[in-house]
Amino acid sequence: MDRIRLKDKEFELYIAEKEIKKAIERVARQIKKDIEGKNPLFIGVLNGAFMFIADVMHYLNGPYELTFARYSSYQGTDTSGMVNEIMPVKSDIRGRCVILLEDIIDTGFTMNYVMRKLRDGGASEVRLATMLYKPDALRHNVTPDYVGLEIANDFIVGYGLDYDELGRAYKDIYKIVES
Ligand code: 5GP
Ligand code: MG
Repeated sequence: MDRIRLKDKEFELYIAEKEIKKAIERVARQIKKDIEGKNPLFIGVLNGAFMFIADVMHYLNGPYELTFARYSSYQGTDTSGMVNEIMPVKSDIRGRCVILLEDIIDTGFTMNYVMRKLRDGGASEVRLATMLYKPDALRHNVTPDYVGLEIANDFIVGYGLDYDELGRAYKDIYKIVES
């Protein structure tokens, strides 16, 4: 499919499944190397990262501990905003190396908050792996340790990402067609 329609918006094919998988495999290989001899706790950030989480863990293929969390952010104008912890991390993170698995870093607002909170909660190390990264949209102090693909500042859907809860189930990534 080259084009999809979700509600009132049109999207066009942007990144094909093959390229996404290749990028995720590279990320997983880097992670695997870096966690040798460690006992990391993976935190999959729902909902958007569900396919990325599954792919990374599939490639890691090991005895790793994985838990999930869910956040939603409400951002007002400029830097004011709030992160709502819909499903907080329940595991004991004190002294642990924590690796977040996130779908996309846009302004960096959400991960800036979450990473700070995990560090304050006593994690010995907090790393961030993101499937997608929009460097031009970044406005907060976040540096992802592992990046699948860098993309332009366009709204995208597919491979877990939604528009108004639709579009998560597509195996390719689509970008919005501005009309
Ligand atoms: P941030 O806090 O970095 O501004 O935003 C991160 C969250 O916003 C992501 O986890 C994702 O849920 C959502 N988001 C950011 N950019 C996009 C996008 O292009 N498409 C979709 N579907 N969600 C996005
Ligand atoms: Mg997300």
